[in-house]
Amino acid sequence: MGLYEDIISLKASVSSDGTVSGILSAAYRKRYLVDQRPSDYYYLTDIVNPAQAYWTRKRKEIKRSQKIANKLSLGNKLQNIAYFWLRKHPDYVDEETTLDGIYTGIPGVIAKYDIRFGNSIIEFKTKDERVMDPETVFTKYPQDLEQICFYAVMHPFKHNIHYLIFQETKAPFPITVFKIEITDFGKITNLLKQRKRALDEAIKTSNPDKLGKCRYFTPGCDFKDAGVCSCGAVEDISTAVLRSSINLVRDTDKEAELNTLREKNKTTDNILFRPFDLFKPRAWILDKNHGIADEYSRDPTELAYLDAMQKSIGRSDQLALTTSDIDQIKNMKFDLPMFKTWQWAAILDSRSENPRKIVPVMLRVSNKKDVPRYINSAYKAQMLCTCIATNSETGALVTLYPNAGEAISVNILKIDSENLKAGKRLIKSAIDKLKTASETNNIKDLDPCLDWARPKFCGECPESCEKIVQDKKDQQPKTDS
Ligand code: SF4
Repeated sequence: MGLYEDIISLKASVSSDGTVSGILSAAYRKRYLVDQRPSDYYYLTDIVNPAQAYWTRKRKEIKRSQKIANKLSLGNKLQNIAYFWLRKHPDYVDEETTLDGIYTGIPGVIAKYDIRFGNSIIEFKTKDERVMDPETVFTKYPQDLEQICFYAVMHPFKHNIHYLIFQETKAPFPITVFKIEITDFGKITNLLKQRKRALDEAIKTSNPDKLGKCRYFTPGCDFKDAGVCSCGAVEDISTAVLRSSINLVRDTDKEAELNTLREKNKTTDNILFRPFDLFKPRAWILDKNHGIADEYSRDPTELAYLDAMQKSIGRSDQLALTTSDIDQIKNMKFDLPMFKTWQWAAILDSRSENPRKIVPVMLRVSNKKDVPRYINSAYKAQMLCTCIATNSETGALVTLYPNAGEAISVNILKIDSENLKAGKRLIKSAIDKLKTASETNNIKDLDPCLDWARPKFCGECPESCEKIVQDKKDQQPKTDS
């Protein structure tokens, strides 16, 4: 028996939970509500796309489409992943920082920039394409450029060098970096003030015609789809002032620097294990010791759904963590080198002495067209690993079924302390074996992979292992001795 079978045979119960799934489903549906905008001030994102700002205030009942909700969720997910390595930059100062225009002569405008390196603001954007040159930024993404320039004029430092990072939303998620040098702060400040005045006037008179076309009119906008806006009849917003107030160049040196930072921070994964690294130990060695990895690229839509589910937990009062829960989690000690593949949530159980529990939650997206009555053993094995890694006697599996009307099922797994300890011994021993085999480069000391989860490149199993390594060696160019 391999680790997978050993883990599955631990004594644990799984039951489906109707209350938590109901709470989560309600929170999940809120992603289709268009952001509620304040009536007494603007966000900077309103100023860079005034037509949409107008319609979000005038037609609050228009719902967001699934396509746009997923696009936003994917952007959010990729941004959160990028923050992990961007935070490691030596000049990193802060992130998600609010600027109130009232301090710099632009009252009524609130902004929140992504990240700051030194005095430079870094704005991170995701796009369906790879953005390669400044002209594409000016013509297709002027709102992103304006946004960072407006941050610069709202920030008291009045620093003139800032960076826009574009990441393509397809694997391997390449980035391009653009350097913005502001040459005329006065013109940009006037542009910002003029936009705000135009928006004030449009809302007051209920006439958006002078606001120009919505910047998402072509790629996709819910107000256009609902047939409520008049953007089709108006001109694009001019970029003339912007073009004459900045220098914009693609900065390949910065790109190389950030790519190095990103790669360096990926390698920390090497010493942490996911459940399937342990269930497919020989495949792990092929990847880590020989650079032979199975091709696997995550479907971006799945990333979007995962982000939406994660947000749903945070949005529901009953499941969201409090500040003291977060402090409690920070102080938890985990003694297995397992990669964090779970979220945390608070769940209630009136049968328990301590009814409110902070539990690890595994999020999954399933393509099934019906919600199955029971969870499959692969999900159960991963849930068990999650409970073992976090020393939790209770864990939750939340599965979203996009093809079954976006149904959400919640399964609660319970395992007692004895089985938790037994599971920990199993995982510890598997990790020790894997590390030893990696050091000695002896793949044959390990159990073969799970037969239903073999890498695509494998032939006869387990005989292929050594042949795969030999083939790779044979393909490498010979060096003259
Ligand atoms: S041949 Fe079998 S054991 Fe070896 S890497 Fe492939 S699936 Fe795993």
